[in-house]
Amino acid sequence: MRILVTGGAGFVGSHLIDRLMVEGHEVICLDNFYTGHKRNILKWLDHPYFELIRHDITEAIRLEVDQIYHLACPASPVHYQYNPVKTVKTSVMGTLNMLGLAKRVKARFLLASTSEIYGDPEVHPQTEDYRGNVNPIGIRSCYDEGKRIAETLSFDYHRQNDVDIRVARIFNTYGPRMLENDGRVVSNFVAQALRGNPLTVYGDGSQTRSFCYVSDLVEGLMRLMNNEHIGPINLGNPDEYTILELATAVQQLVNPDAEIKFEPLPSDDPRRRRPDITRAKTWLNWEPTVPLPEGLKLTIEDFRSRIQSEQPLEAS
Ligand code: NAD
Ligand code: UDP
Repeated sequence: MRILVTGGAGFVGSHLIDRLMVEGHEVICLDNFYTGHKRNILKWLDHPYFELIRHDITEAIRLEVDQIYHLACPASPVHYQYNPVKTVKTSVMGTLNMLGLAKRVKARFLLASTSEIYGDPEVHPQTEDYRGNVNPIGIRSCYDEGKRIAETLSFDYHRQNDVDIRVARIFNTYGPRMLENDGRVVSNFVAQALRGNPLTVYGDGSQTRSFCYVSDLVEGLMRLMNNEHIGPINLGNPDEYTILELATAVQQLVNPDAEIKFEPLPSDDPRRRRPDITRAKTWLNWEPTVPLPEGLKLTIEDFRSRIQSEQPLEAS
């Protein structure tokens, strides 16, 4: 099949491309390199079945493809809040363009939505029929509301134009290739511990998240794409940790003497988050297989090699 991955040079997208290429598909990676990087897809650049297109999805594009994994959008609060208007444009205009493309060429379209559409949830764990508690005017809204409208657009194109859609609500995912300056909690803690800096816990660290290792997520995305259920469907690891527990886990694995520093909690930071994955289990026969300590070890190894190779440059 010919498969388009928008945001393919990013963290999740590049891991997805690795799997698709190994399965023998023709892959087109479309990215504007806002948070993505060529090094993530370097090994495929000379492959005859791989094509890289530098393109901003807020502009229309004509391509012929069978499937579209639509991942292009900055995912870390630091990056999506840097230029919130652009984040909205990417979610709204970008998703419109990709749905228009799917409609024209009759491609199956998978939207990478997010647990953020549940906002600061009053229902725990979050099931797909929960409608969420999102602040429409806060600092996270550009991302949360952007993804909510992306879901709306997907379902409207499905009802109105018969576009074959899939909607995945992705919960916090981590792993190798996250940017060291990504700003998300796992990458921050790992990079801080390896550099001997204090781990920055926002608030008192009692807020919770559930962390999914990237290979598990990619497996879930591919199963959803190739299954008959359209979703929405939660994809995430239901093992829930407080942020302080995560900090302690990273400390234990990297440097038990690493300091923990408490910093103010950003506004609208969700108090707790854990996916109910009954749907994914029943519909896709999917559940995560990589426990947090194992996934953290793999992530730490990757960060260690990158941070070590940085040092001579910094010293010169
Ligand atoms: P990422 O920031 O590493 O990847 C996003 C990619 O999209 C980058 O390569 C970036 O350059 C590209 N991009 C951004 N704006 C673009 C634009 N206008 N045109 C073209 N390319 C653009 O993030 P990620 O963690 O890999 O997330 C991928 C997708 O999964 C995102 O849609 C995100 O919302 C969703 N998601 C991720 C998580 C997670 O925990 N990683 C959780 C929920 C949802
Ligand atoms: N967080 C933290 N220290 C950091 C980065 C994040 O304590 O250095 C907290 C953040 O306040 C939130 C949680 O970790 O409660 C997850 O943050 P992240 O940005 O990874 O994802 P999201 O809030 O989008 O789930």
